[in-house]
Amino acid sequence: MTTDPDALEAARRDRSGHAAAERPLAVVRAASIDDVRATMRIASETTTPVVTQGALTGLAGAANAGGGEIALSVADMTRILDVSPDDQLAVVEPGILNAALNEHLATHGLWWAPDPASREISTVGGNIATGAGGLLCAKYGVTRDAVLGVDVVLADGSLVRMGHRSVKGVTGLDLTSLMIGSEGTLGVIVGATLKLRRTVPGDVCTLTAMFPSVREAAAASSAVTASGVEPAIMELMDHASLSAACGVLGLDAPTSGASQLTIQTDGPAATAEAESIADILRRRASEVRVTRDRAEGEELLRIRRAMHPGMASLGTTLIEDVSVPRSRMAEMFDEIARVERDHGVRIPTVAHAGDGNLHPNFIFDGEEVPPGIWEAADDLFRAAIRLGGTLTGEHGIGVLKSRWLADELGEKQWQLQRDIKNVFDPQGLLNPGKVFAPRDELLQHP
Ligand SMILES: Cc1cc2nc3c(=O)[nH]c(=O)nc-3n(C[C@H](O)[C@H](O)[C@H](O)COP(=O)(O)OP(=O)(O)OC[C@H]3O[C@@H](n4cnc5c(N)ncnc54)[C@H](O)[C@@H]3O)c2cc1C
Repeated sequence: MTTDPDALEAARRDRSGHAAAERPLAVVRAASIDDVRATMRIASETTTPVVTQGALTGLAGAANAGGGEIALSVADMTRILDVSPDDQLAVVEPGILNAALNEHLATHGLWWAPDPASREISTVGGNIATGAGGLLCAKYGVTRDAVLGVDVVLADGSLVRMGHRSVKGVTGLDLTSLMIGSEGTLGVIVGATLKLRRTVPGDVCTLTAMFPSVREAAAASSAVTASGVEPAIMELMDHASLSAACGVLGLDAPTSGASQLTIQTDGPAATAEAESIADILRRRASEVRVTRDRAEGEELLRIRRAMHPGMASLGTTLIEDVSVPRSRMAEMFDEIARVERDHGVRIPTVAHAGDGNLHPNFIFDGEEVPPGIWEAADDLFRAAIRLGGTLTGEHGIGVLKSRWLADELGEKQWQLQRDIKNVFDPQGLLNPGKVFAPRDELLQHP
């Protein structure tokens, strides 16, 4: 445990741009399940709130620890306890980084599919607690599809092992699923049994296509989805995000309005699938490039990977995360353009187009998100919900979106979810004020 001012200061903030108002009481760096259990026992005896932290790369303020709270980091619990190639599973501690796990699994010809863009810097426990997604989700699933079980320390310090090592298992309620995406509000994940895949054999083909407008790029991606071909990656960049990424890479600026799709196919049918996709794209795009060369493919994807530095070059960014049915993406881009006009704000947007998950990036000056940006975000969230979508595809609710939770869930389900939280955590010690903020606290911006 430490009360070092630098450690306390660091525990106040994740990568959302939002920080807790005050420093936490202490940071506990757990090395074992026993350390976590002891911390929770002391917390419940002294009614001290606890905020579990992984690598603090979250984008919803969910891991921010504040005044009167203990920050409980599990980032040092990094052991791989078991890898079973025959059963295609691994048992790990929660603090291992996603990329470090996958580097080890590759030696067994295996991989864990969830691939957030933060995989080099985020923990498996954090990926589970946020229900993380990534570029490959449309074909290979999200974190929810890749977890067989979790070991959880509850608020009173007791240890519960949920789930199973078998492929099937329907004994009782599915508490493992409940833990996925629970953002540290129900318990501390101290172990996970992960469902693995064998390394995909065959080629990787990469395509890029340029479109005269983002609407046409979105319509083309919907046409690819509707054709039944399953690309591993399908990423869309609107003109503003493409220009910013090209800018930081020193590449020529795209022509006015131009938007881009970057698509990758893999597996034994990669080449045939890339050809079918290219046929669909050529009907709409001004330019289509296809390569089977992996290095050249990585080079094409480099522009998409430069999105975060590209946004940083424009100003401070509120990175948002709505999801809509894939057939409605073009309409969502229309809504984003309307919100930009109505509120006088800039919202460069990228999308995991294969699964309808958009990241509108609200650009502003200064440190704190100004009220005008929240008003624009409010308008945009409501538009996503109107289109049959959701407030968050992969980043979670945290503190930043709790005021919209009841709008999407409806009063009855919102109360049901709060009741479930109370069953797990009757003293309200785990991550208080996150996700399920009390109704009367929801009227203020975070
Ligand atoms: C550059 C960048 C790119 C990103 N790209 C993506 C992306 O493509 N897809 C995506 O989904 N996200 C992305 N993120 C967001 C972030 O990386 C993910 O949400 C990630 O899963 C968080 O992991 P973490 O270890 O940093 O967790 P933290 O930020 O430390 O915690 C996140 C939440 O999980 C809880 N938590 C953490 N560990 C545990 C545990 N062991 N038990 C219980 N609760 C726990 C915390 O209390 C908090 O509520 C990105 C972030 C950055 C900075």
